[in-house]
Amino acid sequence: MGGRRHLTLVGAGLAGSLLAILLSRRGWEVDVYERRGDPRIKGYESGRSINLALAERGRHALRAAGVEEEVMRQAVMMRGRMIHGLDGSLQLQRYGRDDSEVIWSVHRADLNITLLEAAERAGARIHFHRRLHTVDFDAGYARLIDDRDDQPHDIRFETLVGSDGAGSALRAEMVRKAGFGERTEFLDHSYKELTIPPAEDGGFMIEPHALHIWPRGRYMCIALPNDERTFTVTLFLPNHGEPGSDEPSFASVRSGAEVRALFERDFPDALPLIPDLERDWEHHPPGLLGTLYLDRWHLGNRAVLLGDAAHAMVPFHGQGMNCAFEDCVALAEAMERDAGDLASAFAAFEAERKPNARAIQAMALENYIEMRDRVDDPDFLLQRELERTLQERHPARFVPHYTMVTFMRIPYAVALERSAIQRRILEQATAGRSDLSGLDWDALDRQVHGALPVLQDAA
Ligand code: FAD
Repeated sequence: MGGRRHLTLVGAGLAGSLLAILLSRRGWEVDVYERRGDPRIKGYESGRSINLALAERGRHALRAAGVEEEVMRQAVMMRGRMIHGLDGSLQLQRYGRDDSEVIWSVHRADLNITLLEAAERAGARIHFHRRLHTVDFDAGYARLIDDRDDQPHDIRFETLVGSDGAGSALRAEMVRKAGFGERTEFLDHSYKELTIPPAEDGGFMIEPHALHIWPRGRYMCIALPNDERTFTVTLFLPNHGEPGSDEPSFASVRSGAEVRALFERDFPDALPLIPDLERDWEHHPPGLLGTLYLDRWHLGNRAVLLGDAAHAMVPFHGQGMNCAFEDCVALAEAMERDAGDLASAFAAFEAERKPNARAIQAMALENYIEMRDRVDDPDFLLQRELERTLQERHPARFVPHYTMVTFMRIPYAVALERSAIQRRILEQATAGRSDLSGLDWDALDRQVHGALPVLQDAA
């Protein structure tokens, strides 16, 4: 291992490969063990969403790793939510003030490959077909399995970093050794992915620069554009319908014919866009949605968790990867500050990131209700109008919730706290109104000044 300090990462997904770049560039000797095969050779084995919304937190981390430009070359800009009404109406709700406040759709596989290649260039060694199986923390041995032939491969380690995702095997081993108060709260909703192919002329079938939403109360469809002119559609449904209602659910919609009937009734403008609807439905397994809570993320200087392995969340704020990337920067910085005492570095990392992970987990849960039920509601639209007006009047104090989470890097916990105050102001001021005329703007200005201190970098 030479004179350099050595680290063993488990999982070369999004967080693992980004962390491998950051740490290798800081002089650590890094080995990464990944359960799957090399995506550059075999094609990407992913049953998961194939595109992801990238926002400022994620971009900042990519910048720190020197790969932002390469990633952004293939990213598709999304200016706002395109709301599809049941009557076929379309309404674009911008995310920010202009095109400097947008999010970006990136391809999961391409992003992972870009990060893996940069990690190797930075000096990290990536070992594919190595699934972490068991760990002896006291002796410093880990057993990995090659799933192609079930052969075990044992390695020695000084420190393990768990970037092995929501079903983390390292977390299971840490929990077995030391408890950690692990609990996962599953949502009573799941999802399926479907595809909108390119148009006959090779272009996009629908507006590419938007995140499309078909909000339908307790359920919804969304679609994100891909660089290759397709859209990944995700249908979110309850697992079981409300008793006595004709609400669709994974229990009631089982066959291709049933899903077609559902689209004819509830998503008629999306139906002609998805030619392989029945096949996609029957071949893609439904994905579970849950929030993972842990009391601790590290075991002395022996092991630490980050990304989904530490705090998986529901995907409704499009922040899981962004948060995981923020973790990578925070962990690399903590390890740099305290390289001589990794237990302290991991404790500092956990203390900084855990409250923020909890905050974005809570906001992601809240956002499901907003997306599926509120975005086409007149009360909600009036509150957004007032939010924009208050932002214009107090750009350094009244910063919309979405802006704080998506276009800024203030701690998620601060965004959560300020959002709750702002929501109260918006709800109280618009209660019983259909427009903003006659509002007492002086009183509102005083309320904003009293409740919301200046937010650095907001204006
Ligand atoms: P992963 O990306 O899951 O990587 C884990 C890696 O570890 C994988 O490569 C896996 O093969 C490997 N591994 C697993 N077990 C082992 C083992 N035992 N041994 C070795 N290797 C192992 N986030 C956003 O920011 N924006 C979005 O728009 C967004 N949309 C989403 C939509 C859906 C439907 C879902 C489910 C999630 C979405 N997310 C989004 C969240 C995002 O996918 C995750 O937060 C992100 O992938 C976490 O990165 P990670 O590296 O921690 O885990």
